[in-house]
Amino acid sequence: MFQQIYQCEPQVEARAPGRVNLLGEHVDYNQGVVLPAAIDRAVYVTAAPTSDGVVTLHALDLDERVSFQLSEVDKRHDVDGRALPGWALYPAGVAWALQEGGLSLSGMQAVYTSDVPIGAGLSSSAAVEVAFATTWRALGGWSIEKLALAQLCQRAENAYVGVSSGLMDQFASACGVEGHALCFDTRSLEWSPEALPPGTAIVIADSGIRRNLTNSAYNDRRAACEQAVELLRNYMPEIKSLRDISSVELAAYSMYLPDEICRRAEHVVKEIHRVDQAVIALHRGDAQMFGGYMFSSHKSLRNLYEVSLPELDALVEIARGLPGIYGARLTGAGFGGCTVNLIQAKDAQAFMQGLQEGYLRQTGREASVYLCKASNGAEARLVNPRR
Ligand code: ADP
Ligand code: MG
Repeated sequence: MFQQIYQCEPQVEARAPGRVNLLGEHVDYNQGVVLPAAIDRAVYVTAAPTSDGVVTLHALDLDERVSFQLSEVDKRHDVDGRALPGWALYPAGVAWALQEGGLSLSGMQAVYTSDVPIGAGLSSSAAVEVAFATTWRALGGWSIEKLALAQLCQRAENAYVGVSSGLMDQFASACGVEGHALCFDTRSLEWSPEALPPGTAIVIADSGIRRNLTNSAYNDRRAACEQAVELLRNYMPEIKSLRDISSVELAAYSMYLPDEICRRAEHVVKEIHRVDQAVIALHRGDAQMFGGYMFSSHKSLRNLYEVSLPELDALVEIARGLPGIYGARLTGAGFGGCTVNLIQAKDAQAFMQGLQEGYLRQTGREASVYLCKASNGAEARLVNPRR
Protein backbone atom coordinates (compact mmCIF):
# COMPACT_ATOMS: atom_id res chain seq x y z
CA MET A 1 0.00 0.00 0.00
CA PHE A 2 2.80 2.40 0.95
CA GLN A 3 4.54 1.86 -2.39
CA GLN A 4 1.31 2.44 -4.30
CA ILE A 5 0.66 5.71 -2.52
CA TYR A 6 4.15 7.19 -2.42
CA GLN A 7 5.99 5.34 -5.21
CA CYS A 8 8.96 4.57 -2.96
CA GLU A 9 10.02 1.99 -0.38
CA PRO A 10 9.10 2.40 3.31
CA GLN A 11 11.83 2.36 5.95
CA VAL A 12 9.94 1.90 9.20
CA GLU A 13 6.92 -0.06 10.38
CA ALA A 14 5.51 0.74 13.81
CA ARG A 15 2.66 -0.61 15.88
CA ALA A 16 1.04 0.78 19.04
CA PRO A 17 -1.84 -0.92 20.83
CA GLY A 18 -5.09 0.28 22.38
CA ARG A 19 -5.74 -0.50 26.02
CA VAL A 20 -8.38 -1.59 28.46
CA ASN A 21 -8.48 -0.79 32.17
CA LEU A 22 -9.10 -3.95 34.20
CA LEU A 23 -9.48 -2.26 37.58
CA GLY A 24 -9.00 1.12 39.26
CA GLU A 25 -11.66 3.34 37.67
CA HIS A 26 -11.83 7.07 38.36
CA VAL A 27 -8.81 6.75 40.63
CA ASP A 28 -6.15 8.22 38.30
CA TYR A 29 -7.08 11.82 39.14
CA ASN A 30 -6.98 10.87 42.81
CA GLN A 31 -3.37 9.66 42.53
CA GLY A 32 -4.39 6.00 42.87
CA VAL A 33 -3.08 2.87 41.20
CA VAL A 34 -4.65 1.63 37.95
CA LEU A 35 -4.47 -1.79 36.30
CA PRO A 36 -4.70 -1.44 32.52
CA ALA A 37 -3.48 -3.86 29.86
CA ALA A 38 -2.42 -3.16 26.29
CA ILE A 39 -4.60 -5.19 23.91
CA ASP A 40 -3.94 -6.97 20.62
CA ARG A 41 -5.64 -4.26 18.59
CA ALA A 42 -3.37 -1.53 17.36
CA VAL A 43 -2.52 1.34 15.06
CA TYR A 44 -0.04 0.38 12.32
CA VAL A 45 2.16 3.01 10.68
CA THR A 46 4.40 2.53 7.64
CA ALA A 47 6.76 5.41 6.89
CA ALA A 48 9.79 6.72 5.04
CA PRO A 49 11.79 9.86 5.90
CA THR A 50 11.86 12.98 3.73
CA SER A 51 14.56 15.64 3.66
CA ASP A 52 12.36 18.74 3.26
CA GLY A 53 10.76 18.70 6.74
CA VAL A 54 7.33 17.99 5.29
CA VAL A 55 5.16 15.34 6.96
CA THR A 56 2.52 13.70 4.77
CA LEU A 57 -0.08 11.61 6.58
CA HIS A 58 -2.35 9.22 4.76
CA ALA A 59 -5.09 7.88 7.05
CA LEU A 60 -6.33 4.76 5.26
CA ASP A 61 -9.36 4.21 7.50
CA LEU A 62 -10.60 7.75 6.89
CA ASP A 63 -9.40 7.90 3.27
CA GLU A 64 -7.86 11.29 4.04
CA ARG A 65 -4.47 12.82 3.41
CA VAL A 66 -2.72 15.97 4.62
CA SER A 67 0.78 17.50 4.53
CA PHE A 68 2.32 19.94 6.98
CA GLN A 69 5.73 21.48 7.60
CA LEU A 70 7.46 20.34 10.82
CA SER A 71 8.93 23.77 11.52
CA GLU A 72 5.43 25.30 11.45
CA VAL A 73 3.57 22.57 13.30
CA ASP A 74 2.72 24.98 16.14
CA LYS A 75 0.52 26.94 13.72
CA ARG A 76 -1.74 23.92 13.21
CA HIS A 77 -2.00 24.46 9.46
CA ASP A 78 -1.17 22.40 6.39
CA VAL A 79 1.34 23.27 3.67
CA ASP A 80 -1.32 25.41 1.94
CA GLY A 81 -2.14 27.36 5.10
CA ARG A 82 -5.47 25.62 5.78
CA ALA A 83 -6.34 24.51 9.31
CA LEU A 84 -5.28 20.91 9.97
CA PRO A 85 -8.28 18.55 10.11
CA GLY A 86 -9.14 17.15 13.56
CA TRP A 87 -7.79 13.65 12.89
CA ALA A 88 -4.37 15.06 11.87
CA LEU A 89 -3.97 16.92 15.17
CA TYR A 90 -3.03 13.65 16.92
CA PRO A 91 0.10 12.87 14.84
CA ALA A 92 0.88 16.60 14.38
CA GLY A 93 0.56 17.07 18.16
CA VAL A 94 3.11 14.33 18.66
CA ALA A 95 5.50 16.08 16.27
CA TRP A 96 4.98 19.30 18.23
CA ALA A 97 5.47 17.68 21.66
CA LEU A 98 8.56 15.70 20.61
CA GLN A 99 10.18 18.83 19.17
CA GLU A 100 9.21 20.82 22.28
CA GLY A 101 10.92 18.04 24.22
CA GLY A 102 14.14 18.80 22.34
CA LEU A 103 14.08 15.80 20.02
CA SER A 104 14.99 16.25 16.38
CA LEU A 105 12.51 14.92 13.86
CA SER A 106 12.66 14.34 10.14
CA GLY A 107 9.84 14.86 7.71
CA MET A 108 8.10 11.68 6.65
CA GLN A 109 5.62 10.13 4.33
CA ALA A 110 3.34 7.85 6.30
CA VAL A 111 0.37 5.56 5.83
CA TYR A 112 -1.60 4.29 8.81
CA THR A 113 -4.51 2.07 9.68
CA SER A 114 -5.96 0.67 12.87
CA ASP A 115 -8.24 -2.03 14.27
CA VAL A 116 -8.82 -0.18 17.55
CA PRO A 117 -12.47 0.92 17.32
CA ILE A 118 -12.72 4.71 17.43
CA GLY A 119 -14.46 6.31 20.38
CA ALA A 120 -15.29 3.02 22.09
CA GLY A 121 -13.07 3.71 25.10
CA LEU A 122 -10.15 1.53 23.99
CA SER A 123 -8.06 4.62 23.41
CA SER A 124 -7.59 4.68 19.68
CA SER A 125 -6.26 8.23 20.09
CA ALA A 126 -3.40 7.23 22.42
CA ALA A 127 -2.58 4.37 20.04
CA VAL A 128 -2.26 6.86 17.15
CA GLU A 129 -0.03 9.14 19.23
CA VAL A 130 2.26 6.42 20.53
CA ALA A 131 2.49 4.82 17.08
CA PHE A 132 3.71 8.08 15.56
CA ALA A 133 6.10 8.84 18.42
CA THR A 134 7.55 5.35 17.94
CA THR A 135 7.83 5.91 14.19
CA TRP A 136 9.73 9.18 14.67
CA ARG A 137 11.99 7.53 17.23
CA ALA A 138 12.89 4.79 14.77
CA LEU A 139 13.45 7.24 11.89
CA GLY A 140 15.54 9.53 14.11
CA GLY A 141 17.61 6.76 15.61
CA TRP A 142 17.37 8.32 19.09
CA SER A 143 16.22 6.50 22.18
CA ILE A 144 13.88 7.56 24.96
CA GLU A 145 12.38 5.89 28.04
CA LYS A 146 8.97 4.41 27.25
CA LEU A 147 7.37 6.37 30.06
CA ALA A 148 8.91 9.65 28.87
CA LEU A 149 7.59 8.93 25.38
CA ALA A 150 4.13 8.32 26.84
CA GLN A 151 4.33 11.64 28.71
CA LEU A 152 5.15 13.51 25.50
CA CYS A 153 2.18 11.84 23.81
CA GLN A 154 -0.05 12.85 26.71
CA ARG A 155 1.22 16.41 26.29
CA ALA A 156 0.28 16.24 22.60
CA GLU A 157 -3.28 15.22 23.48
CA ASN A 158 -3.67 17.74 26.33
CA ALA A 159 -1.96 20.81 24.93
CA TYR A 160 -2.11 20.39 21.13
CA VAL A 161 -5.31 18.42 20.45
CA GLY A 162 -6.93 20.05 23.49
CA VAL A 163 -8.35 16.98 25.23
CA SER A 164 -7.52 16.70 28.92
CA SER A 165 -6.70 13.15 29.95
CA GLY A 166 -4.47 11.29 32.36
CA LEU A 167 -1.32 9.38 31.47
CA MET A 168 -2.79 5.86 31.68
CA ASP A 169 -3.73 5.44 28.01
CA GLN A 170 -0.40 6.47 26.52
CA PHE A 171 1.44 4.64 29.30
CA ALA A 172 -0.33 1.34 28.55
CA SER A 173 0.16 1.70 24.80
CA ALA A 174 3.89 2.37 25.27
CA CYS A 175 4.65 -0.06 28.11
CA GLY A 176 2.31 -3.05 27.57
CA VAL A 177 3.64 -6.53 28.38
CA GLU A 178 2.20 -9.63 26.74
CA GLY A 179 0.01 -11.69 29.09
CA HIS A 180 0.26 -9.05 31.83
CA ALA A 181 -1.75 -6.30 33.42
CA LEU A 182 0.24 -3.17 34.23
CA CYS A 183 0.14 -2.02 37.82
CA PHE A 184 0.68 1.73 37.38
CA ASP A 185 0.97 4.12 40.30
CA THR A 186 -0.31 7.45 38.98
CA ARG A 187 1.36 9.29 41.88
CA SER A 188 4.93 7.97 41.76
CA LEU A 189 4.69 6.82 38.10
CA GLU A 190 6.27 3.53 39.19
CA TRP A 191 4.90 0.47 37.49
CA SER A 192 5.25 -3.29 37.25
CA PRO A 193 3.82 -5.94 34.94
CA GLU A 194 1.59 -8.46 36.77
CA ALA A 195 0.88 -11.77 35.03
CA LEU A 196 -2.78 -12.45 34.31
CA PRO A 197 -4.01 -15.82 35.60
CA PRO A 198 -3.22 -18.66 33.19
CA GLY A 199 -6.06 -19.81 30.94
CA THR A 200 -7.91 -16.50 31.12
CA ALA A 201 -8.97 -14.15 28.33
CA ILE A 202 -10.28 -10.61 28.20
CA VAL A 203 -13.56 -9.86 26.46
CA ILE A 204 -14.59 -6.28 25.81
CA ALA A 205 -18.25 -5.58 25.08
CA ASP A 206 -19.24 -2.27 23.54
CA SER A 207 -22.71 -1.17 24.65
CA GLY A 208 -22.96 0.96 21.51
CA ILE A 209 -23.94 3.96 23.62
CA ARG A 210 -22.06 7.25 23.33
CA ARG A 211 -23.23 9.94 25.73
CA ASN A 212 -22.28 13.58 25.39
CA LEU A 213 -22.93 13.79 29.11
CA THR A 214 -19.58 12.17 29.76
CA ASN A 215 -17.56 15.40 29.87
CA SER A 216 -19.70 17.37 32.28
CA ALA A 217 -20.31 14.34 34.52
CA TYR A 218 -16.57 13.62 34.53
CA ASN A 219 -15.83 17.19 35.62
CA ASP A 220 -18.52 16.94 38.33
CA ARG A 221 -16.96 13.76 39.70
CA ARG A 222 -13.49 15.31 39.73
CA ALA A 223 -14.83 18.37 41.54
CA ALA A 224 -16.58 16.16 44.12
CA CYS A 225 -13.29 14.39 44.87
CA GLU A 226 -11.48 17.71 45.30
CA GLN A 227 -14.23 18.94 47.59
CA ALA A 228 -14.01 15.77 49.68
CA VAL A 229 -10.26 16.28 50.14
CA GLU A 230 -10.78 19.92 51.09
CA LEU A 231 -13.40 19.06 53.73
CA LEU A 232 -11.43 16.12 55.10
CA ARG A 233 -8.35 18.33 55.48
CA ASN A 234 -10.13 20.02 58.39
CA TYR A 235 -9.62 16.77 60.28
CA MET A 236 -6.58 15.30 58.52
CA PRO A 237 -4.51 18.31 57.44
CA GLU A 238 -1.70 16.19 55.98
CA ILE A 239 -3.75 14.55 53.19
CA LYS A 240 -3.12 15.56 49.59
CA SER A 241 -5.62 13.38 47.78
CA LEU A 242 -8.13 10.59 48.39
CA ARG A 243 -5.18 8.25 47.94
CA ASP A 244 -4.08 9.25 51.44
CA ILE A 245 -7.23 8.10 53.25
CA SER A 246 -8.22 4.63 54.41
CA SER A 247 -11.84 3.50 54.36
CA VAL A 248 -11.81 3.42 58.18
CA GLU A 249 -10.75 7.08 58.28
CA LEU A 250 -13.37 7.99 55.71
CA ALA A 251 -16.05 6.25 57.78
CA ALA A 252 -14.90 8.13 60.87
CA TYR A 253 -15.30 11.54 59.23
CA SER A 254 -18.16 10.76 56.83
CA MET A 255 -20.68 12.64 58.98
CA TYR A 256 -18.88 15.87 58.10
CA LEU A 257 -19.31 15.33 54.36
CA PRO A 258 -22.46 16.02 52.32
CA ASP A 259 -24.10 12.75 51.27
CA GLU A 260 -23.21 12.87 47.61
CA ILE A 261 -19.58 13.90 48.20
CA CYS A 262 -19.29 11.08 50.69
CA ARG A 263 -20.53 8.47 48.20
CA ARG A 264 -18.06 9.68 45.57
CA ALA A 265 -15.18 9.58 48.04
CA GLU A 266 -16.20 6.12 49.25
CA HIS A 267 -15.99 4.74 45.73
CA VAL A 268 -12.52 6.18 45.18
CA VAL A 269 -11.09 5.12 48.54
CA LYS A 270 -12.45 1.57 48.26
CA GLU A 271 -11.51 1.25 44.58
CA ILE A 272 -7.90 2.15 45.44
CA HIS A 273 -7.95 -0.54 48.13
CA ARG A 274 -9.51 -3.03 45.67
CA VAL A 275 -6.61 -2.54 43.27
CA ASP A 276 -4.15 -3.46 46.06
CA GLN A 277 -6.16 -6.59 46.81
CA ALA A 278 -6.52 -7.46 43.14
CA VAL A 279 -2.75 -7.33 42.68
CA ILE A 280 -2.48 -9.89 45.50
CA ALA A 281 -5.02 -12.02 43.61
CA LEU A 282 -2.80 -11.80 40.51
CA HIS A 283 0.25 -12.85 42.52
CA ARG A 284 -1.72 -15.91 43.57
CA GLY A 285 -2.94 -16.53 40.03
CA ASP A 286 -6.48 -16.45 41.43
CA ALA A 287 -8.85 -15.44 38.62
CA GLN A 288 -11.95 -15.97 40.75
CA MET A 289 -10.74 -13.56 43.40
CA PHE A 290 -9.65 -11.00 40.81
CA GLY A 291 -13.03 -11.28 39.09
CA GLY A 292 -14.81 -10.72 42.39
CA TYR A 293 -13.08 -7.33 42.65
CA MET A 294 -14.23 -6.49 39.12
CA PHE A 295 -17.85 -7.15 40.08
CA SER A 296 -17.47 -5.08 43.27
CA SER A 297 -15.92 -2.28 41.26
CA HIS A 298 -18.94 -2.24 38.95
CA LYS A 299 -21.36 -2.18 41.86
CA SER A 300 -19.49 0.75 43.35
CA LEU A 301 -19.38 2.64 40.03
CA ARG A 302 -23.13 2.08 39.73
CA ASN A 303 -24.29 2.81 43.28
CA LEU A 304 -21.69 5.15 44.73
CA TYR A 305 -20.05 6.92 41.80
CA GLU A 306 -23.23 6.78 39.70
CA VAL A 307 -21.57 6.62 36.29
CA SER A 308 -23.26 3.45 34.98
CA LEU A 309 -26.26 3.07 32.68
CA PRO A 310 -28.94 0.35 32.53
CA GLU A 311 -27.29 -1.00 29.36
CA LEU A 312 -23.89 -1.37 31.08
CA ASP A 313 -25.57 -2.96 34.10
CA ALA A 314 -27.33 -5.37 31.73
CA LEU A 315 -24.02 -6.38 30.12
CA VAL A 316 -22.51 -7.06 33.56
CA GLU A 317 -25.52 -9.02 34.84
CA ILE A 318 -25.80 -11.12 31.68
CA ALA A 319 -22.08 -11.87 31.88
CA ARG A 320 -22.47 -12.99 35.50
CA GLY A 321 -24.72 -15.85 34.37
CA LEU A 322 -22.59 -17.08 31.47
CA PRO A 323 -20.13 -19.98 31.37
CA GLY A 324 -16.51 -19.17 32.15
CA ILE A 325 -17.09 -15.75 33.75
CA TYR A 326 -14.74 -14.55 36.51
CA GLY A 327 -15.63 -10.86 36.62
CA ALA A 328 -17.17 -7.99 34.67
CA ARG A 329 -17.50 -4.25 35.07
CA LEU A 330 -17.89 -1.06 33.11
CA THR A 331 -14.52 0.29 31.98
CA GLY A 332 -13.62 3.88 31.18
CA ALA A 333 -15.41 7.00 32.36
CA GLY A 334 -18.91 5.46 32.16
CA PHE A 335 -22.26 6.67 30.76
CA GLY A 336 -21.73 4.39 27.79
CA GLY A 337 -18.76 2.71 26.15
CA CYS A 338 -17.63 -0.75 27.14
CA THR A 339 -17.61 -3.41 29.80
CA VAL A 340 -14.51 -5.52 30.39
CA ASN A 341 -14.84 -9.21 31.27
CA LEU A 342 -12.27 -11.65 32.58
CA ILE A 343 -13.23 -15.15 31.46
CA GLN A 344 -11.94 -18.66 31.08
CA ALA A 345 -10.30 -18.69 27.64
CA LYS A 346 -11.79 -22.06 26.67
CA ASP A 347 -15.33 -20.68 27.05
CA ALA A 348 -14.69 -17.57 24.97
CA GLN A 349 -16.94 -18.39 22.00
CA ALA A 350 -19.95 -19.47 24.07
CA PHE A 351 -19.46 -16.50 26.37
CA MET A 352 -19.35 -13.94 23.57
CA GLN A 353 -22.37 -15.41 21.83
CA GLY A 354 -24.35 -15.56 25.07
CA LEU A 355 -23.48 -11.95 25.87
CA GLN A 356 -24.54 -10.66 22.46
CA GLU A 357 -27.79 -12.64 22.44
CA GLY A 358 -28.69 -11.69 26.00
CA TYR A 359 -27.97 -8.02 25.36
CA LEU A 360 -30.10 -7.97 22.22
CA ARG A 361 -32.94 -9.73 24.01
CA GLN A 362 -32.84 -7.41 27.00
CA THR A 363 -32.15 -4.03 25.39
CA GLY A 364 -32.92 -4.44 21.68
CA ARG A 365 -29.34 -3.31 20.98
CA GLU A 366 -26.39 -4.94 19.26
CA ALA A 367 -23.19 -5.14 21.30
CA SER A 368 -19.84 -5.35 19.50
CA VAL A 369 -17.76 -7.90 21.35
CA TYR A 370 -13.97 -8.21 21.14
CA LEU A 371 -11.85 -11.09 22.37
CA CYS A 372 -8.51 -9.60 23.43
CA LYS A 373 -5.13 -10.72 24.67
CA ALA A 374 -2.91 -8.58 26.89
CA SER A 375 -0.13 -7.55 24.52
CA ASN A 376 3.24 -5.89 24.22
CA GLY A 377 3.47 -2.13 23.97
CA ALA A 378 4.55 -0.12 20.95
CA GLU A 379 7.43 -1.25 18.79
CA ALA A 380 9.00 -0.29 15.48
CA ARG A 381 11.22 -2.12 13.06
CA LEU A 382 13.34 -0.99 10.16
CA VAL A 383 12.31 -2.43 6.82
CA ASN A 384 14.29 -2.34 3.56
CA PRO A 385 17.46 -1.25 5.35
CA ARG A 386 19.82 0.39 2.87
CA ARG A 387 22.26 -2.13 1.44
P1 ADP B 1 -10.88 6.91 21.81
O1 ADP B 1 -11.65 6.65 23.05
O2 ADP B 1 -10.99 5.78 20.83
O3 ADP B 1 -9.46 7.30 22.09
P2 ADP B 1 -11.06 9.66 21.04
O4 ADP B 1 -12.23 10.50 20.71
O5 ADP B 1 -10.22 10.02 22.19
O6 ADP B 1 -11.59 8.16 21.13
O7 ADP B 1 -10.09 9.63 19.78
C1 ADP B 1 -10.57 9.30 18.51
C2 ADP B 1 -9.87 10.14 17.46
O8 ADP B 1 -8.52 9.65 17.25
C3 ADP B 1 -10.54 10.03 16.10
O9 ADP B 1 -11.62 10.93 15.98
C4 ADP B 1 -9.38 10.38 15.16
O10 ADP B 1 -9.18 11.76 15.12
C5 ADP B 1 -8.19 9.72 15.89
N1 ADP B 1 -8.06 8.35 15.35
C6 ADP B 1 -8.34 7.20 16.00
N2 ADP B 1 -8.18 6.13 15.17
C7 ADP B 1 -7.80 6.62 13.99
C8 ADP B 1 -7.50 6.02 12.72
N3 ADP B 1 -7.60 4.70 12.54
N4 ADP B 1 -7.15 6.84 11.71
C9 ADP B 1 -7.07 8.18 11.88
N5 ADP B 1 -7.34 8.80 13.04
C10 ADP B 1 -7.72 8.04 14.08
MG1 MG C 1 -8.94 8.91 23.40
